[in-house]
Amino acid sequence: MGKEIRPTTDVAGVRSSWWEQASASRFRRSILRLLPLTALLVIVGVDLILARRPWPLLIDGSTDEVGHLLTAALLLAVLPRSARGRLWPWALLGAVVIDLDHVPLYTFAPEFAVSGRPPTHSLLTVLVLGIVAAVIPLVRIPFAGLALGVGLHLVRDVATGPGVPLLWPFDDSAIRSPYAAYLVVIVGAAAVATWKVSRGIRRRADPPTAASERDPALPA
Ligand SMILES: [Zn+2]
Repeated sequence: MGKEIRPTTDVAGVRSSWWEQASASRFRRSILRLLPLTALLVIVGVDLILARRPWPLLIDGSTDEVGHLLTAALLLAVLPRSARGRLWPWALLGAVVIDLDHVPLYTFAPEFAVSGRPPTHSLLTVLVLGIVAAVIPLVRIPFAGLALGVGLHLVRDVATGPGVPLLWPFDDSAIRSPYAAYLVVIVGAAAVATWKVSRGIRRRADPPTAASERDPALPA
């Protein structure tokens, strides 16, 4: 993507192919630039739909997971590539599968809740997953990614519904932040992600010269 494509001959068919490839490349760049904004709009749309009225549990839950997945994706996009590394697929997975802890709550264990949400919606889960990642090298990447994903999940849950028992088992009370605070976070993340995508596209289109690569004053 972004690679310069030059026509090597005047043959009509080849020129046509070059224009098609160049147009497709521009189209892909435009799509990439719009991805963070699209994710933001989908999250806000999901929340407006969920706020309109009570929905059947399956619809409510699956729609909310779209919000969780996109929230995690936006926040992951803000992290430096070195930080998210190979963790990101596991983080996206963790940001969604943590809600499986609602299954006992809605089926055989209705008492499996602290201040409205399962007690596993707490920082203790992040800590346990992180400890497993730290002590078992074989599963370091998956568990570190899952810990990150659960943390990103809580960013949304703390601003929706009853909040989350973040400090359980030390404190049973639900911690809640205003939805506006969550909105500020995801709008900021979308803005930064858009800037990073645009910068990446520009860098691919205009690779740094040898001189700029040697200049330590230039940004990395
Ligand atoms: Zn949740």
